[in-house]
Amino acid sequence: MDLIPASIRPFMRAAFLPKVSEGDGALKASKFWGKPWLNKNEDWPVCQHCGKPMQLFLQLNLNSLPESIQGEFGTGLLQLFYCTSTDTNCEVECEAWLPFAKSMLVLCCST
Ligand SMILES: [Zn+2]
Repeated sequence: MDLIPASIRPFMRAAFLPKVSEGDGALKASKFWGKPWLNKNEDWPVCQHCGKPMQLFLQLNLNSLPESIQGEFGTGLLQLFYCTSTDTNCEVECEAWLPFAKSMLVLCCST
């Protein structure tokens, strides 16, 4: 803590280093790709720009975060879908890195 300048301490955030392994995990597991948990009547999210199914980029099971940050972001699943289509280059045309872009979607789900 003493190594961190006082001027930037207010911007400190808790973080953790995820343990990763190859392959798709359980449906509700935290993962960087694979099959996401979707509600029974929920369709796979599609890109609002090209209309194609979007890639699951990240699914975080907030209930299984390290104890030091448990509950800090709520409960359930946090999912990020991101269009990787190169046919229409949705990432660039929609500026997918910005909030509310048409070619990405963030979902919070209670499972
Ligand atoms: Zn797209």
